[in-house]
Amino acid sequence: MSSVKIALVGLGKIARDQHIPALTASAEFELVAAASPRGKLDGVRSFPSIAELFEAIPEVAAVALCTPPQVRYETARYALERGRHVLLEKPPGVTLGEIQELAEIALRHAVTLFASWHCRHSPAVEPARAWLAGRQIRKITITWKEDVRVWHPGQRWIWEAGGLGVFDPGINALSILTHLVPGTFRLCAADLSYPENCQTPIAARLALAGPGDIPTVMELDFLHQGAACWDIVFDTDAGGLRLSMGGKYLHVDDRSLATSDRTEYASLYAHFASLVRERRLDVDIAPLQIVADAFLSGRRIPVAAFTG
Ligand code: NAP
Repeated sequence: MSSVKIALVGLGKIARDQHIPALTASAEFELVAAASPRGKLDGVRSFPSIAELFEAIPEVAAVALCTPPQVRYETARYALERGRHVLLEKPPGVTLGEIQELAEIALRHAVTLFASWHCRHSPAVEPARAWLAGRQIRKITITWKEDVRVWHPGQRWIWEAGGLGVFDPGINALSILTHLVPGTFRLCAADLSYPENCQTPIAARLALAGPGDIPTVMELDFLHQGAACWDIVFDTDAGGLRLSMGGKYLHVDDRSLATSDRTEYASLYAHFASLVRERRLDVDIAPLQIVADAFLSGRRIPVAAFTG
């Protein structure tokens, strides 16, 4: 198959840190254009909007949407209705309904929609899945703590409605969890700490019941000082498995296990290429559903204003 001409929409941190290097190295995609209100990309034609991009370069066959989630639905719909394959950065949208509708539009237009969860492509995730298969999980503990001022400097959209707050990184943990453990995670309780000047939480504590009522707790903190902690620990009948650094490393009872040598976004784009070839959809809302349940039923705890 010849390479798929692709455009990036939203030239911010993740587009520059991960998507551009992965696309530059990919034999399956050719990065031909970008659209972003203010950003420009050296070496490819850049446009302020996706409409102007499609007008100027109609042969673009796919787009990767790296915008904040609040504008993703409109952009995705515009592309799908014009017969383009679409990759959505996480989270795939700000409501479950808009994602469902995008999937229906993609099916109607016979194009691919990939609601990507980049952490599922981290090098330790598949080895962890293989190790956990057939083992009895007794308890799961998720600790996802980072300093928002270091990792998301100046990103106001995180604090606006639909921006998810501390669940913007926290949903990465949920994407790994729901990939590793088949079945439903039911929310039992949630405490959500909202700064008085923000629409989204800055810290959270969730208690969940996994399949077979596996007790699962999740601690999220955006004001954590020092090294970030992105860990998931599974207590099992055969020992404790720890996935650390967002799925990069894997330990069983402090013994390090081998991980895959593929990088996260190379693997993500290889999967997108296979979906495009087969004109299939990959749209899993399970991680966002847990966040939605927390927002539906969680206790709201007011905390001090956040000053970025
Ligand atoms: P960011 O640095 O704020 O970048 C977002 C970019 O989107 C901005 O630079 C802005 O472009 C552009 N944009 C805003 N509205 C747009 C529109 N209507 N059309 C086209 N472009 C628009 O945010 P980010 O960190 O890259 O995050 C973007 C998404 O990726 C989020 O959903 C996030 O959860 C996800 N993600 C982020 C990371 C990370 O480490 N940061 C990791 C994985 C996934 P201009 O600058 O041109 O105005």
